[in-house]
Amino acid sequence: MLSFDQLNLSTPLRNAIEDLGFEKPTPIQSEAFPVILSGRDMVGIAQTGTGKTFAYMLPILRDLKFSKQVSPRVLVLVPTRELVMQVVEQTETLAKYMSTRVLGVYGGPNIKVHMAEVAMGCDILIATPGRLYDLVLSRSLSLKTINKLVIDEVDVMLDLGFRFQLQNIFDLLTEKRQNIMFSATMTDEVDELINTHFITPAKISIAVSGTPLENIEQVCFEVPNFYTKVNLLANLLDDKHEYKKVLVFVSTKRRADLLFEAMESVFGTSIGIIHSDKTQNYRIRSIEDFDSGKNRILIATDVIARGLDLDQISHVFNFDTPNYPENYMHRIGRTGRAEKMGKSILFYTPTEQKDKEAIEELMVYEIPTLPFPEDVEVSRQLTAEERPKVEEALSHKINKIIPPGEAFHEKKEKNKKENLGGSYKRTIAAKYKKPQRKGGKSPGGTKRK
Ligand code: AMP
Repeated sequence: MLSFDQLNLSTPLRNAIEDLGFEKPTPIQSEAFPVILSGRDMVGIAQTGTGKTFAYMLPILRDLKFSKQVSPRVLVLVPTRELVMQVVEQTETLAKYMSTRVLGVYGGPNIKVHMAEVAMGCDILIATPGRLYDLVLSRSLSLKTINKLVIDEVDVMLDLGFRFQLQNIFDLLTEKRQNIMFSATMTDEVDELINTHFITPAKISIAVSGTPLENIEQVCFEVPNFYTKVNLLANLLDDKHEYKKVLVFVSTKRRADLLFEAMESVFGTSIGIIHSDKTQNYRIRSIEDFDSGKNRILIATDVIARGLDLDQISHVFNFDTPNYPENYMHRIGRTGRAEKMGKSILFYTPTEQKDKEAIEELMVYEIPTLPFPEDVEVSRQLTAEERPKVEEALSHKINKIIPPGEAFHEKKEKNKKENLGGSYKRTIAAKYKKPQRKGGKSPGGTKRK
């Protein structure tokens, strides 16, 4: 790993680092520094706590020449007001021996205050997308001079619904600029943003810090479909002594809702859900109930769960296999903390097998597969996404050929299938509502009680 001396920092930066007492650059700092300095677009996959703020600020400040220009040259977009304040503070600490003008703007305060501040001029502007766009619309700010754009925590930004504002901001920027992006999790939306706006970016991915993999016992089950995953999860979670505090990761908000709906009838008083479409109050309550132990189970999506500081999680379930292997690392890193052993259980369907293999490749570790428990029912019910496309196309054709009366029956049959959700809940409730007494091994290897 590089030392700060090898980074070829300017004297003011080196002095600031010395004051901070940092001994050496973090991995993301060592890797991002030369890339950002070279002017190339960059995508960094790194969590908060890895030193990512300085990873982009160090090379940016190293490159920034003194100027009296009013319009900013560097724009840093972050999702929340808190993060604006944090990044402003970190940048000011780093630029303490420089004459760099740093300004933070965010939603909340009267926009006139920000208009006045912007008019005084700055070099680095740190902003939330909404307030930034309002400032541009009010003609107080021009983005034409921006030659470096940083989007930090882009996954959170998109999850909070800032996609439209981001697009508007991209439209206002000049083509000639360097794009830098940091995200803790990869999502399809993040990927799409990169493909649309970045030019052959260098990708830097930092393994999750904190939890050593040795502290986590990992197992997996091959499961044919969503509703069989529900059955398996319900079966395992029935064991309250083994599964004390369980975080269940699902790939999308919709699937999270679907899973919650299916499980609620069984674990109604001990299960919570959290994702960005839930109101802030609901989310706060979900976290409190889970943290206090009132709820034993919390269903969550990747992006929302990342920001949660949750302790003592006994098991992490990967209800869906993440299609970006780094996300798996983030997920399982939520257990096995503070020297305690954690357990991770992954469910994968045949379609998700390749994603599982990508995870194993990243870890250089093959996750042991456990046999599918015999007492768990294999569901034949399929979600809309799981239904074979060919069959659907064919049923349209059949509808066309069969006379109206019969076609109507055909449709009723189809509707019945789609309504299975309700009856499914009843089936599973009947099956698991009373504590099960059947034996069988939990993935942790402990005999179920
Ligand atoms: P971040 O990931 O940007 O939120 O940074 C997390 C924390 O790490 C911040 O409080 C930084 O001050 C600190 N930090 C950043 N770089 C280093 C470093 N090279 N050595 C020690 N701490 C650092």
